[in-house]
Amino acid sequence: MSGSGSVVEPPPPGSSPLDVDEIRAEFPALDQQVHGRDLVYLDNAATAHKPNRVIDAVREHDRATNANVHRGVHALSQRATDAFEEARDTTRAFLGAEDPEEIIWTRGTTEAINLVADAWARRELGPDDEIVLTELEHHSNIVPWQRVREETGARLRVVPIDDDGAVEMDALEDAVGPDTALVTLAHVSNALGTVNDVHAATEIAHDADALALVDGAQAVPHMDVDVQDIGCDFYAFSGHKVYGPTGIGALYGRRELLEEMQPYQAGGEMIRQVTFEETTYACLPAKFEAGTPNITGAVGLGHALDFVTDHGRDSIRAHEDRVLSAATERLAAIDEVEILGTAEDKASVLSFVIEDVHPHDVGTVLDREGVAIRAGHHCTQPVMDKFGVAATCRASFAMYNTVEETEALADAVREAIEIFH
Ligand code: PLP
Repeated sequence: MSGSGSVVEPPPPGSSPLDVDEIRAEFPALDQQVHGRDLVYLDNAATAHKPNRVIDAVREHDRATNANVHRGVHALSQRATDAFEEARDTTRAFLGAEDPEEIIWTRGTTEAINLVADAWARRELGPDDEIVLTELEHHSNIVPWQRVREETGARLRVVPIDDDGAVEMDALEDAVGPDTALVTLAHVSNALGTVNDVHAATEIAHDADALALVDGAQAVPHMDVDVQDIGCDFYAFSGHKVYGPTGIGALYGRRELLEEMQPYQAGGEMIRQVTFEETTYACLPAKFEAGTPNITGAVGLGHALDFVTDHGRDSIRAHEDRVLSAATERLAAIDEVEILGTAEDKASVLSFVIEDVHPHDVGTVLDREGVAIRAGHHCTQPVMDKFGVAATCRASFAMYNTVEETEALADAVREAIEIFH
């Protein structure tokens, strides 16, 4: 075993673009011990903790407002509607969209992608059409398209990743052609941290008159996202990965497309007029929001996005890059560790395996040391197949993580190696 000493000096006080101590004080869940050790929470790609601002906003909404939206003439309903629509506009601004009606509330990224699969692909595509996706997609950006394939006969083309875990952009360009109806890819890989060139992918799609969908689940918490600048047709993300509540997320869709699309689910809220003979549908965004939505979740998400904006996405990215580099350097210095995912542009995810030790065993030892990571296939089994492993250990970072915590990670990894070797 090598690299038992500290390989990375913590940045001198004041040099971080963020005041991380101040930020950490905002997240009550970070201030606890697990198995008698200070918690080091490095499972942010699965879900991030919530700042007081979000916790308080959700509690206050439930305590004092808690009415259904859009349907009431009374004061509480009006207040709930205002807060709900304000959160939609906050989301619009956060994504750089033009119009709040282009923001559709969903349960998260998974439902947003399924919405496009159901309301667009399943109705528009046939055996002559192709959907182009990449080898590094999360299952939620694979399985909906397989179901579209089963139901429409459309074909799937998978663009490979290279040994660093980067999408082969030449292969993407080759895969897209006159039959391509959709190019869909993650902005950031949850398994490897690779940042994809979604601008180029969108351009390639549009040059072939295809649509472009970006899965932004792992990008939105870590970097500036501007859907107009990217030019994509759809962009999906989840609230709980960006310091908001679970059960809420959004789909951005270009207005003309959303207008042409059929509804996703049917029921209350999404109608204009109902008779037993015929039903006409509501305008955007209600057409895609059947039933009572997750109102409290949307309100909480609005506050989470404001929290991120207030701290500055460029500063967050710069800080997290520093933490990721420190973690990478520390783990790379340990002989038994192999890092998977070495693309040039990465964000906030460090996947690794330890020679002859199952990732679940590593995760269990790390947990005893207070270090929370994820061990598994991360809902990306094709990525695991590509690297010839069943699972990896994944440390994933958020704005509140510190360079010092990467030392705790490395110490715990060395502990695991000592136990199992
Ligand atoms: N896409 C990516 C890249 C993800 O990392 C995840 C979750 O880990 C998802 C999609 C699915 O997100 P959710 O479970 O919040 O719908």
